[in-house]
Amino acid sequence: MGGTFDPPHLGHLISAQFVADELNLEEVIFLPTGNFSYKDSYETAEAQRRYDMVKLAIADNPKFSISDIEVRQKEYSYTCFTLEKIRKLYDNSRIYFIIGADSLDYIDSWKNPQHIFEQCTIVAVSRKGFSQEDLNEKRGELLKRFEADIIILEMPCIDISSTDIRKRIRENKSVNYLVDGRVAKYIEDNNLYK
Ligand code: ATP
Ligand code: MG
Repeated sequence: MGGTFDPPHLGHLISAQFVADELNLEEVIFLPTGNFSYKDSYETAEAQRRYDMVKLAIADNPKFSISDIEVRQKEYSYTCFTLEKIRKLYDNSRIYFIIGADSLDYIDSWKNPQHIFEQCTIVAVSRKGFSQEDLNEKRGELLKRFEADIIILEMPCIDISSTDIRKRIRENKSVNYLVDGRVAKYIEDNNLYK
């Protein structure tokens, strides 16, 4: 499961657990992006901090792990190349790439989508603003254009986003029950997102 995780929240964890259970996965690897994927103008946390927060958030779950493949990279990291590396490390394993419905909507604008789809099965989970029909339509389109292997998993929408969490922090509101308690403490101790 790739992401900026800026910060990681319960929506990420619930989705990952849901997919792991539905597909009976051995392991879910969280892949925080490196420093070059800043995507909005708000104050964002550095790669090392985002990596630390994901590590704290998944600490209790033996099925969850974290990879620094993208974080340690000097250049911009692209999913198609990250998947190559993961496949080398996990030779003989079937690889699923877990994303939310919003990411499925624009995955074909990522670098070399054909190469992404060749290397993994995409698993897309529900997210607010995207209906099941939207998802199925997109799945059909990507199947036609790229022969993409995509599984759509319907789950209750968890309406939590990192953008909203960063906003809440700027407004001095609590993020209790939106992020893991250790992540909340890390944010506070390091004065992030203010
Ligand atoms: P931001 O608001 O900064 O974009 P985000 O909440 O979307 O943050 P990301 O790190 O961008 O979090 O998300 C990583 C992956 O997790 C993406 O594929 C995204 O679609 C998915 N995801 C994030 N939050 C949820 C959620 N609440 N439910 C389902 N999927 C989610
Ligand atoms: Mg996002």
